Amino acid sequence: MGAGPGDPGLLTCRGRDILQSADVVVYDRLIGQELLALCREDAILIYVGKTAGKHSMTQDEINAVLSEHASRQLSVCRLKGGDPFVFGRGGEEALYCLERQIPFEVVPGVTSAVAAPAYAGIPVTHREVATSFAVVTGHTKAGAPADLPEADTLIFLMGIKALPQIVENLLQKGRPASTPAAVIRWGTTAEQQVVTGTLADIEERIKQAKLTTPALIVVGDVVHLREQLQWFDNPATRPLWGKTVVVTRAREQASTLVAQLSQSGARVIQCPTIRIAPLEDHAALDGALAQFAQYDWVIFTSSNGVEHFFRRLDACGHDARLLGKAQIAAIGPATNDALKQHGLRADLIPATSISESVADALIQRSPAAKVLLIRATKGREVLQQQLTAAGWQVDTIPVYQTVADTGNADEVRRLLSEGAIDWVTFTSSSTVTHFVNAIGSDAIKAHRATFQVACIGPITAKTAAENDLVADIVTSGSGTEELAAELCRAVE
Ligand code: SAH
Repeated sequence: MGAGPGDPGLLTCRGRDILQSADVVVYDRLIGQELLALCREDAILIYVGKTAGKHSMTQDEINAVLSEHASRQLSVCRLKGGDPFVFGRGGEEALYCLERQIPFEVVPGVTSAVAAPAYAGIPVTHREVATSFAVVTGHTKAGAPADLPEADTLIFLMGIKALPQIVENLLQKGRPASTPAAVIRWGTTAEQQVVTGTLADIEERIKQAKLTTPALIVVGDVVHLREQLQWFDNPATRPLWGKTVVVTRAREQASTLVAQLSQSGARVIQCPTIRIAPLEDHAALDGALAQFAQYDWVIFTSSNGVEHFFRRLDACGHDARLLGKAQIAAIGPATNDALKQHGLRADLIPATSISESVADALIQRSPAAKVLLIRATKGREVLQQQLTAAGWQVDTIPVYQTVADTGNADEVRRLLSEGAIDWVTFTSSSTVTHFVNAIGSDAIKAHRATFQVACIGPITAKTAAENDLVADIVTSGSGTEELAAELCRAVE
């Protein structure tokens, strides 16, 4: 099966279905973490690529791994970069299966040979410029460069080491020294690097740029089109291109922010310092659900609260109708969106997404009443305090908890020390305190000058400031969309 060229979004639908169901996944180098994250939690993941200093498994060893698991009646996904039949030895492995009578199917993938140029703004064919293209290996079995095919555009895979021979062969074959050439490294990913030049100077230029593998070489007049079509690695179309942004949200809820930032070109490092987990003991909520009719209002202070509330509601055999005539307050639009997923709409959303505003708005809207406050185990007490002071009766019910997740703190510390992080984002006060705990305040202090801080809302910013992380950007609302938009504006 082909995994596509790097951008996890370029996996095929069929590929995703298979990854999500496979018992065993045997994968190579250059397969991204995002794809492996699609695998079943109990899937057996086997790495057969090269590791630093060591040789990769031989083809015989890989074949043995495949047949061993297949013979145990397990479904085995052999995951390869790009397309499995484009210099992927997929054909050899299929022949091996045939020989052993192991049933197989082939899932093509988007090959880097076409996709990396596309993400560099280079169409491999173009009317009146190139009517054919050929994909060539930079080294053949014997180590000698392959014969050059006749085609307008030539794409060399695995050719960086052999670049001097490739250039010489091309010149000998009569291609002019002025022929445009491009080298694309880590194409289709946030680390994509592109160097352009001509056959005369491309070697010198990639030396200067210190460009290394994995990279491919495109030779032909189509390379000129990049001057107009450069869309991906381009801050004019994707403002956060070239910026590295840390997202500290819990894994469960990071995905929308990650998607928004990546869409704008950022390289996103997820550092989920907290994890959202269900409670072990549901007694408090179960009790409230059993006597629900007593409540005039229900307040939701986060979309997580909504999710966990409805999960338990469902587990107890109820549905949204249980809320009956109770009015609903949501702290902000994102929480209201979560409610809409369950067919409900908040009756009250304050203009600013903080607890104080919810309390103010409620007190203004309605006489003192009985309310059910849905939240995390740890939360701010101010909402309950303000309402109680105004004569309201408040039942505060925790429905989920946040637990520490040290995740990839080491990687973040390393990137910090290299000055490679441009922005750190915080979406709530707890992400700040957990981040400081996970990374260590010394490491943060030492590199504080190298990155900027963006926070959702003034409360988060206040906690950040208390931890020497004075925010450069503070959004007024609670949504991640606003945060992503503000970041784009800030780098303009
Ligand atoms: N089956 C793969 C190619 C495997 S050969 C495919 O269809 O894409 C491995 C070579 O592919 C690398 O040496 C490099 O030349 C190229 N390659 C793979 N991924 C790449 C990427 N993201 N950017 C640039 N080149 C890539």
